[in-house]
Amino acid sequence: MLQEIHQVMLQDTVRTDAYRDFIYANKHLFAGKVVLDVGCGTGILSMFCAKAGAKRVISVDNSAIIEKARSIIDANGLSDKVTFIRGKIEEINLPYDVEKVDIIVSEWMGYCLLFEAMFDSVMYARDRYLKPDGLMVPSHCTLQIGALDDSEFVADNFTFWKDVYGFDMTAMTEKIYDDVLVRFPNKENVTGRSKDEKPFKVLDLHRITAAELEFKVPFEVALTRDMDALDGWCVWFDTIFMQSKEQTVPENLLRGIKGKGVDSEQTVVFTTGPFGPQTHWRCGTCMIDHKDHPSESLKEGQVLKGSISFRKNEEHKRALDIDIEWKGEDANIAGQQKWFMQ
Ligand code: SAH
Repeated sequence: MLQEIHQVMLQDTVRTDAYRDFIYANKHLFAGKVVLDVGCGTGILSMFCAKAGAKRVISVDNSAIIEKARSIIDANGLSDKVTFIRGKIEEINLPYDVEKVDIIVSEWMGYCLLFEAMFDSVMYARDRYLKPDGLMVPSHCTLQIGALDDSEFVADNFTFWKDVYGFDMTAMTEKIYDDVLVRFPNKENVTGRSKDEKPFKVLDLHRITAAELEFKVPFEVALTRDMDALDGWCVWFDTIFMQSKEQTVPENLLRGIKGKGVDSEQTVVFTTGPFGPQTHWRCGTCMIDHKDHPSESLKEGQVLKGSISFRKNEEHKRALDIDIEWKGEDANIAGQQKWFMQ
């Protein structure tokens, strides 16, 4: 199982290439520096940093995978540069001769970005160990929402549960309305985008606080074609790697990233959204229950305004509650629904 998870992550080339491309395209940032890899897993990001010229990499992971990472670093002749510490970042001590680090690298992103709340741990490391002018890799994440017209998915779900080995399990169909479903919708089904493809939330990873990881913010989507019905919402995140804490993200990177890439400034971005290649994160889809919100056809160009909130679940701190409210411009549709991700 452990092996499988790490294989899936390493084989997600959108993800792994982005870290590699940023680190290798910006070797000058890593040369001679002390790097902390929070949640090193197999050690891949530590090895990228060591190869890019880091003086020292401190690699922390609380899972047994770190024992494999030790062998991997040996096998690749990098053990003189990398120090492993097994344990939770919140509970371990860095080596006695390292007080602060120049760079924190971490791949902490979860489904819908914040599921599993691993950024809390990275934030702990940032506030405790990163030098004031140190660099977070990556530096920013943004969250996007789109409207879904996906009657086929709803119908398939109904057809399946209607007859399971001859039994009517229709009651199960409702599960799709309770949970955030991790799936990658066809881009043709994402029929509404935010105006100017503006994200509903930008997370500045150098500065964001724990309180700001729970929020309720407004959004606005304009329909890009006529829709038979608003069947749900699709939520995804994009990731941006800037070269310093002081750099501001260019406007164009905050909008509608289509895939992944390195620009002339050696800034790296990738999207997990439906308009780019599929990643292992897929998207979070929040299906609307038409029992409470009858289907209404909608016209291209119509604007839906609403708000979205992300909260940690009261009982399960690593789980996520997403609450969305929406209203058509001419008030022909309106609704509110909550979804849970566990
Ligand atoms: N950096 C690797 C693995 C990323 S997965 C890669 O990019 O392939 C995230 C890793 O973080 C997991 O191996 C998990 O065990 C570890 N992790 C999660 N929370 C942690 C914490 N609080 N302290 C230390 N490691 C943690």
